[in-house]
Amino acid sequence: MYFSTDHILTSHAGVLPRPDGLKEALEADWQAAQPQLAQAVTAVVQRQLDMGFDIVNDGEQSKFRGFSEYVRDRLSGIDNSRTERRRLSILARDAKDFPGFVGMKFKNWGSSVAVCTGPLDYIGGDVTKTDIANLKAAMNGKTSGAYLPSVAPGTIEHWLHDEYYKDTEKFLFAIADAMAKEYKAITDAGFLLQVDDPDLPDGWQMFPGMSVKDYRKYASLRVEALNHALREIPREKIRLHVCWGSNHGPHKNDIPFADIIDIVLRVKAGCVSFEFANVRHEHEWRVWQDVKLKDGTTLMPGVVGHATDIIEHPQLVADRLTTFANIVGRENVIAGTDCGLAARLSHPELTWAKLDALVEGARLATRALWRSGAKKAVKAAKETRVRKASARTASGRKTSAKKTARNRAAKKAKARKRR
Ligand SMILES: [Zn+2]
Repeated sequence: MYFSTDHILTSHAGVLPRPDGLKEALEADWQAAQPQLAQAVTAVVQRQLDMGFDIVNDGEQSKFRGFSEYVRDRLSGIDNSRTERRRLSILARDAKDFPGFVGMKFKNWGSSVAVCTGPLDYIGGDVTKTDIANLKAAMNGKTSGAYLPSVAPGTIEHWLHDEYYKDTEKFLFAIADAMAKEYKAITDAGFLLQVDDPDLPDGWQMFPGMSVKDYRKYASLRVEALNHALREIPREKIRLHVCWGSNHGPHKNDIPFADIIDIVLRVKAGCVSFEFANVRHEHEWRVWQDVKLKDGTTLMPGVVGHATDIIEHPQLVADRLTTFANIVGRENVIAGTDCGLAARLSHPELTWAKLDALVEGARLATRALWRSGAKKAVKAAKETRVRKASARTASGRKTSAKKTARNRAAKKAKARKRR
């Protein structure tokens, strides 16, 4: 896993802009477009390195079908000549509250899915080898400081209609067994693996009638399947990315992070990437105060987001990073994005501008957090939180509130004295 003892590390969660015409060229003739693809990977990696990113990727240049749909070409048992109407929508709960808006904006959004008609196996070995070789070449042979994303079984399940297994558990574990080969190829090559599992949180929206208790059971089974696929890979070589689906809908009915955070943390991953720059979830930094992280866990909160075209101010990015540095320590925080930016912002210029803001904000946070005395301040803040948390546990909220009021009064008195 990546730690830093002298600055806030920088990375991002996925897809970056592709050069004009690359998607069409890959779609039309995969083989013929290979030189164009290799060139695009070199350019996108170089741009990230020039910007000052610590952990870069290939910008998902080869995955022209999308972060999840790309597996259509890498799994056997999928009939690509057919599609089925998607039965589950990650807007289903919101659609009840906002039928007009969802009907207007998402009428045909992701309405068809691929169909599994036979046994699933991994047949994407050569394509993955190409992804690995392109990234390695772009890094001048180095693998440290680079990652490749790959999609989780639970998210594939959502975008794949099963006509063969006809049993949820069998279907999920068959996907897991197949995808394990892609995960392993990435880490065997020396890269960090980022497993993308947006459906771990956003699956909640798909079942409007489900209780939190039942959803936790549903999510736990998906995590079991994912961990099964990751069983041969050391935890420190894995980063998990979760988000709430990243569609630009209301998100009013997203599941609160607190309801599933323990399940998310069951995933065998040394780093967790999640949404924090999204106005529906920004307040949820608080949940990290109350969870016990396994030793060596790093957090990659999104400090710039996909939900708005407005470019975050670097000072806001720095403030967001400081919030997390105060909770888990500055060495354990990586500046990230809420999700893959390029697929959701209105123009590639905005993606690069947001990534610039991320790097600049991380520099500001580094300056503040590593300046003399900052270490003491972070330690003191941590100790105060531990004290507050134990006061809450011991005597309930009222005592803690009383204490806070007392502290505030004492501080005011001190300030008066100084004057
Ligand atoms: Zn995402």
